[in-house]
Amino acid sequence: MSDSATAETAVSTPRLAALVVLRTDVGLVRSENQDFAAYTTAREERGSHPGGRLLIVADGMGGHRGGATASRLATEVVKRQYLDSETGDPAAALRDALTRANARIHSEAQSNADLRGMGTTTSALVLKNDRAWFAHVGDSRIYRVRGGEIEQLTEDHSLVASMVREGLLTTKEAENHPRRNVLQRSMGVSEEVEIDVRGPFDLQVGDVFILCSDGLHGVVKEGEIKEFADRPLDEAADQYVKLALERGAPDNVTVLVARIVRADDIGDETLADSPYDETVRDEIVDQSSRTTAKIPAMKEPPPDGDGGLQPAAPQEDEGKADEQPPKPGFLRRLFFL
Ligand code: CA
Repeated sequence: MSDSATAETAVSTPRLAALVVLRTDVGLVRSENQDFAAYTTAREERGSHPGGRLLIVADGMGGHRGGATASRLATEVVKRQYLDSETGDPAAALRDALTRANARIHSEAQSNADLRGMGTTTSALVLKNDRAWFAHVGDSRIYRVRGGEIEQLTEDHSLVASMVREGLLTTKEAENHPRRNVLQRSMGVSEEVEIDVRGPFDLQVGDVFILCSDGLHGVVKEGEIKEFADRPLDEAADQYVKLALERGAPDNVTVLVARIVRADDIGDETLADSPYDETVRDEIVDQSSRTTAKIPAMKEPPPDGDGGLQPAAPQEDEGKADEQPPKPGFLRRLFFL
């Protein structure tokens, strides 16, 4: 090995890896899961300029078809635009991806009467090398648990959250407020949207990130989310969903949990790349067929490369027909950052 090659090796950043788990559940009251979530695979990231692991959660609203369509579009367009971005700057790539997703959802809503008025929250987190960035609109949340402390990184763009910030409501009053679901910002409702973009934050080994829809954080408190964050990720994610269900799960429940680990601490046999995308599809799920998590692989991207809208009908059929329990292998993946 030449001297220059040795020097290059010596200054390279130690490899970090992220364990990622995704769970979604329609809940006990709603007939349809209008949440959507996804994360990128190492294979997808390989050719991407901004790079890093991208995790996205979206919580749709607006009628039967609208909410599910909006959250799916947000997730797919953000993912596609981020991976295809020409910039190497994750913050710029995230902002551009959410901007385009907003425009896309808005234009679909304008051109289709069934979808008019649809909108969605979107929270997207990038974990890259030893740093993190996020982009956020709405009231889904990103938490970080570090050193036994939990911090909500995102700010809720909801009416009650702004009233709390202005001192008009206490946090406790906000939790049970009849208008707690009213959003001040959401994706797709207007031609333009104000997007919170933050970062870079440093990453530390042991950090746990939790992305979730309000179906989780509305019924499972921060202290409880923190309490289970040091469990194995499958167990933590299952516990979060279980707690929500025990409390009546009035809304769809979706959670992504990611833990930062040192790659060298993990056996090579666990480092297999994922051969497929994993995306939560909106589904029609009745009580009898409800399962804790259904994560079918995302279909091949449309040829136009812009996260195109797939027809809703086949997905609904697929959702109804899918009686297979999820394969555990679909739910847990390890990636280098
Ligand atoms: Ca919700």
